[in-house]
Amino acid sequence: MDCLDEETVLALLDGELETERVRDVDRHIDGCTSCRRLLSTLAEETPSDGALPPEQPKPRAP
Ligand SMILES: [Zn+2]
Repeated sequence: MDCLDEETVLALLDGELETERVRDVDRHIDGCTSCRRLLSTLAEETPSDGALPPEQPKPRAP
């Protein structure tokens, strides 16, 4: 499998990928440092507006 592009990673983060694709992507990320880094970068940058219920604020250590 080729390395992931931003669009694919964003779709993964949004839960918009098909289950089969998620499995492939997960497996790839497991063994690919650069894609893992891309995933974590995008995960931090992507605002999760609407993804989390307001009554569950993100726990964050000071
Ligand atoms: Zn990769």
